[in-house]
Amino acid sequence: MSDIVTDYKNGIYNADSGYEGGGVASIYIIRDEGRTAIVDTASRAALEPVTRAMRDMGAESGSVDYIFLTHVHLDHSGGAGAFVKEFPNARVVVHKRGARHVIDPEKLVRGAAEIYGAKTFDRLYGKVLPVPEDLVVTAGDGDEFRVGNRTIVCMDTPGHALHHLAFLDARTNGVFTGDAFGMSYLELRNQSGTGVMLTTSPVQFDPEAMEASMRRIESLEPEYLYLTHFGRAARADIASSLYRQLERYTELAGSVNGDLEEIRAGLKDIYAAERELQDCPCFTDSSCRVMRVAMELNAQGLALWYGKTLKNK
Ligand SMILES: [Zn+2]
Repeated sequence: MSDIVTDYKNGIYNADSGYEGGGVASIYIIRDEGRTAIVDTASRAALEPVTRAMRDMGAESGSVDYIFLTHVHLDHSGGAGAFVKEFPNARVVVHKRGARHVIDPEKLVRGAAEIYGAKTFDRLYGKVLPVPEDLVVTAGDGDEFRVGNRTIVCMDTPGHALHHLAFLDARTNGVFTGDAFGMSYLELRNQSGTGVMLTTSPVQFDPEAMEASMRRIESLEPEYLYLTHFGRAARADIASSLYRQLERYTELAGSVNGDLEEIRAGLKDIYAAERELQDCPCFTDSSCRVMRVAMELNAQGLALWYGKTLKNK
C-alpha cells in the first residue's frame, strides 16, 4: 500500500490529499464487496493521490458509487467536480443547503479567495470545476446510502456550517465528522496523544449548534471519529478538549466585544494553555504553518459570529 494511505483494517482507508503539503486533509475511501465510496475531496489536486491509492488497493474507478461531502467549504468539496470526471458512476451526496454551491461554485470561489487572498487561493485550489446537476444527490438527516453491504447514514450536524453533514458507518459505528468535531492535523499529534483544535472558521460558525452536533455524535458512542483534518481519532481522547475550547473561544469573543485584533491576541493565550493541557507544543510553535492559518480563520469566524449575535439582540 502506498505511503500516503493508512489502512484502518475495517474497509476504511485514509488517503492523504496532499493539501497544504500533507497531513492536513484526509480523503476517506470506504470499501465493501467491490464497491467504493469517498468522503470529502480536498482540492482538485487530490485526485492524483486518490486514484493512486485506489489503484494500490485494486479498486476500479467504476466502483465508486458515492462521493460524500461533509460540507461545501472548498478544502472539502473543491475536488468534487474533477472527481466525477474520473469516477464515471459516482454521484455526489451533499446537504440540500449546500447543493447549489457544488453545481455552481462561483460564490464559494469568491468567498474563499477573499479569505485566503488570490495568490494563496490559486495555489490551494486552482480552477474549481462544477459538478453537473444530474450527478448531485441532496441529502438530509437520516438518509441512508448503500456501499456494498455497508450502510452510511447522514446526520445533520450544523455549527461549523449550516449545511454540514456527518456520516455514520453503521458497520463500525464510526463517524466521518468533517469539521463538526474538531481538527487534529498531523502536526498536532505527538507520541503522548492527539492534539485537537476546534474550528470556528467563517462564515456560519454557531457555538450552540456546534455543541449540540457534538453531543449528538457523542450520543452514538462511536469509539472512533474520522476527522477530515486529519485522520482517525479516538473520541475519548478529543471530546473534552473541544468542549473546553468552545467555551473559552466564545467567552473571549464576548469579553472583547468581538474585536478582531483582541480575539487574535486572546486566542494566543488560549492556545498557550492548550499547549500545556494537551501536552502539544505545536499550539504555540509559530513555525507550524497550518496552525497559523487555522488560528487566523478561527479569529475571523469568532469576530463574525459575535457581530451577528449583536445585530440579533
Ligand atoms: Zn469547513
